[in-house]
Amino acid sequence: MWGMIATWRMALEGVTKGCEMLGQGQNAGDAVEAAIREVEDFPYYKSVGYGGLPNEEMEVELDAAYMDGDTLSIGAVAAIKDYANPVSIAKRLSQESVNNVLVGEGAEKFAHKEGFERKNMLTDRAKAFYRKRKKEVAQQELKPYAGHDTVGMVCLDRDGKVTAATSTSGLFMKKKGRVGDSPIAGSGFYADSKVGGASATGLGEDLMKGCISYEIVRLMKEGLHPQEACERAVNLLDQELKERRGKAGDLSLIAMNKEGQWGVATNIEGFSFAVAVEGQPPRVYLVKRNEDGHCAFEEASKEWMDDYMKTRMAPVKE
Ligand code: ASP
Repeated sequence: MWGMIATWRMALEGVTKGCEMLGQGQNAGDAVEAAIREVEDFPYYKSVGYGGLPNEEMEVELDAAYMDGDTLSIGAVAAIKDYANPVSIAKRLSQESVNNVLVGEGAEKFAHKEGFERKNMLTDRAKAFYRKRKKEVAQQELKPYAGHDTVGMVCLDRDGKVTAATSTSGLFMKKKGRVGDSPIAGSGFYADSKVGGASATGLGEDLMKGCISYEIVRLMKEGLHPQEACERAVNLLDQELKERRGKAGDLSLIAMNKEGQWGVATNIEGFSFAVAVEGQPPRVYLVKRNEDGHCAFEEASKEWMDDYMKTRMAPVKE
């Protein structure tokens, strides 16, 4: 059995590519890397890689991570600028015995030495979004952070290897140097081939408070189905945050176990994800959280899919 699950509709082309590779017998490390690169390279996905939304100073600082569930090796970069595929740098770092997580200038130096592709990741379109948001924030006291999303994936190959990877430009208008959950092991991602993997998207500052990806893998290790594990972890963190802090940020999680069973949970409206397992082609689902805390999902309609692309590619009205 092989399979792949990922956060948001934007992962679909990547998941499709990754699954082709898995079907041909390639390993979960290469498949997840190729899948995330596909999302990083597409300029109209404005929260990952090229075309990602900039920080307060109009610079695109990217976070990414990779984890190998066989060896538990981890690699991550945070606040890296001017490199095309942060996930590949993260994967490369996972092969080092130490210095696995690098930030900013140090990460860029490493990438340069290793010959990774340099690229100015700030597009004209992202600059237009930035100007527009600056204006809106000044006029209407809008929260500058809206408009983020991370691609997070869990991948299982035929040999039973589980990997997880993430890539994001983080929160729109974040402070320079701000690091979210996505490159933090246990929060944005976790993979253990003996159990399965999980990955997160949402408000990094809150996702980190629950080490939530690790928590889901831990619950799966105790025998919970990925769906149950995701719901339990998300609902509990949501509840704790509301109780202790008065509110909870966005929390959306995906998981897959070593049998290829999968699950998702969210505390928001409008979460989507892409999933495929051997014998079932990649599909996008929309998640609905019921009153009782359980999540239901339905396949995205053709209209929804068409509309999604149209909005992504529409001109930015400043
Ligand atoms: N979790 C990401 C961060 O806080 C953003 C997101 O997934 O929307 O950087």
